[in-house]
Amino acid sequence: MIKAEQKPMDEILRYLEPYNKILLAGCGACVTVCHAGGEKEVSLLASSLRMARQKIGKPMEVLEKTPARQCEPEFALELSETVGSVEAVVSVACGIGVQTLVRHFQKTPIFPGVNTTFLGETMAHGVWEERCQACGNCVLEKTGGICPIARCAKQLLNGPCGGSSKGKCEIKRETDCAWQLIYDRLKALGQLHKMEEIIPAKRWGVESRDSGPRRIVREDLKV
Ligand code: SF4
Ligand code: SF4
Repeated sequence: MIKAEQKPMDEILRYLEPYNKILLAGCGACVTVCHAGGEKEVSLLASSLRMARQKIGKPMEVLEKTPARQCEPEFALELSETVGSVEAVVSVACGIGVQTLVRHFQKTPIFPGVNTTFLGETMAHGVWEERCQACGNCVLEKTGGICPIARCAKQLLNGPCGGSSKGKCEIKRETDCAWQLIYDRLKALGQLHKMEEIIPAKRWGVESRDSGPRRIVREDLKV
């Protein structure tokens, strides 16, 4: 799940300063699950924005819409009529949703209402932890299913740094050392020999974002 958190109110109010009628666009998927940009959060943020603007004597009309998934054109385009009637849009979807709106509504300013933070797992109600950085070449089969990119502070691919101590990370002592977790997991699986296999340095230029945005084309799914 993509995890996000609402931006500070003063930041949102600052970029909305020139506008008097906006659309607050939520998303019914990840940001709904992490309580950052679903229908409920849209309603709460819309009320806060109206009150804040009322208070300074510059009332602002705030329309509310929450399509099922903002990152898919068929749902994003459900907003067309409403976008055409406002001066600006605040999207509380992740950064992908914001950019989907930018692509389809080129004449309208689109602002992010949340900070997209990470790809995470739900640990408990209201608790999420980062698990993947979408590196483009997954190594989980070599590391017992524990990601050294997302979970090791130094993104080490071949064992712990010298600072690993009592199972904890030297960068943040309350955090488990990812390589301790990998070792324990491989040991439990009887696969400790995998620790001896050298994982080559990641070729970030071709595997990931340094070479520009990745693109997947599935010819079998094209219509
Ligand atoms: S190795 Fe890469 S793709 Fe696999 S979980 Fe880690 S960051 Fe994600
Ligand atoms: S202590 Fe462990 S998790 Fe922390 S940086 Fe070193 S190897 Fe990575």
